[in-house]
Amino acid sequence: MLFYSTNNKDLRVPFQEAVFNSLPADRGLYMPETIPVLDAYFIQNLHRYSLQEIAYTVAKALIGEDIPEADLHRIVYEAIDFDAPVRPLDSGLAVLELFHGPSLAFKDFGARFMSRVMAHFSAEGSQVLDVLVATSGDTGGAVALGFLGVPGTRVTILYPKGKVSPIQELQLTTNGQNIRAIEIDGTFDDCQALVKEAFNDRELQSVFRLTSANSINIARLIPQTFYYFHAYAQLLAQGIKDVVFSVPSGNFGNIGAGLLAFKMGLPVQHFVAATNANDTVPRFLESGLYEPRPSVQTLANAMDVGNPSNWVRIMDLFGNDLAALKQTVSSFTFTDADTREAIRTLYDRYSYIACPHTAIAWLAAETYRRQHKGNFATVFLSTAHPCKFPEVFPPEIAAQITVPAQVNVLQRRAKEAIGLDMDYERFKNYLLGAR
Ligand SMILES: *Cc1c(COP(=O)(O)O)cnc(C)c1O
Repeated sequence: MLFYSTNNKDLRVPFQEAVFNSLPADRGLYMPETIPVLDAYFIQNLHRYSLQEIAYTVAKALIGEDIPEADLHRIVYEAIDFDAPVRPLDSGLAVLELFHGPSLAFKDFGARFMSRVMAHFSAEGSQVLDVLVATSGDTGGAVALGFLGVPGTRVTILYPKGKVSPIQELQLTTNGQNIRAIEIDGTFDDCQALVKEAFNDRELQSVFRLTSANSINIARLIPQTFYYFHAYAQLLAQGIKDVVFSVPSGNFGNIGAGLLAFKMGLPVQHFVAATNANDTVPRFLESGLYEPRPSVQTLANAMDVGNPSNWVRIMDLFGNDLAALKQTVSSFTFTDADTREAIRTLYDRYSYIACPHTAIAWLAAETYRRQHKGNFATVFLSTAHPCKFPEVFPPEIAAQITVPAQVNVLQRRAKEAIGLDMDYERFKNYLLGAR
């Protein structure tokens, strides 16, 4: 499979190059030159396959020419070694839990798959692969745990000071080995801007073998399609065929992957992009004007993105046709007050404890259900374990959260992070100095 830049369809590169460059030089994003449509028999019989079998089939359709079968099989089975269950809440409403991986967030799918793909391609390379990643919280933990101890790699994580939760910060800053954390006095967008600048810096490019691990990397997007197929499979097993997914969205990689699955033949009725106060996309769907704004801080901090990187991919999937896109995608925005109330209602009504991102996805699902009567099941995606955001919950709900064992281990370790501001030259000098 070749991958083109969303800014120039004539610029095509092999998968390996798209993975290591992450961003094309023209600052577009890589997309597969053709979108393989999966066999109808496979789709109709998805419920007969396991998550790993589905993942392997989907991966093979996209990148089967680029990685030998046995290697791809091993990568998929090693990376996707945890479950993604759909839990019914009431008739027509279910939650897809994506937080059963090591960092307790859905980003484990992308990070674990990408790290193994990169290790596969760099097996013969001699220079250390330097992974630079900006995180608003969950990416860093997933990437750190995905690469921890992988030979020939080093990971540098930039995170916004004071804007990640204590558990997230522990996951970023207690790893040691080939992982280092930089605490930036700024926002997530500032962190992302520093990383993007570094990738466009010829001097750094000549000194380091740089690569990105953000959701802009195509090797993170691909594995996020797997759980949409598998969620559909679980509904199919109950005889349900009409499905709407509601996806809590920040950088729009998660929902972008869902839409890629849709274009690969997954017969989803509709997608709902749920956002917090960072409402660039719902405003765009309403007005047709794409007007990004600086991000604002909310309770759902992994969605605090003012200018979602993956949006161009979604437009590209729909041929930049807004009317066509709106037939498949709706978007709603919610405040922190809405989020708190949703957490309370989910707990009272279903005894379900949802993290703030997940609560927003539920709100958007409910809004869509109110507006569209019909015989479909709505599945909202739960993107993180609630224990990552303890300060958000009222004490009586917080007391009911069970903290998984891997978190308790981190609490006994010391934080190690370098503090920097948002000045690019200082960041660059740090990287060069730490050679
Ligand atoms: C990253 C993240 C999101 C947003 O996902 P995108 O792919 O950036 O849209 C939502 N919830 C949680 C918990 C996250 O970590």
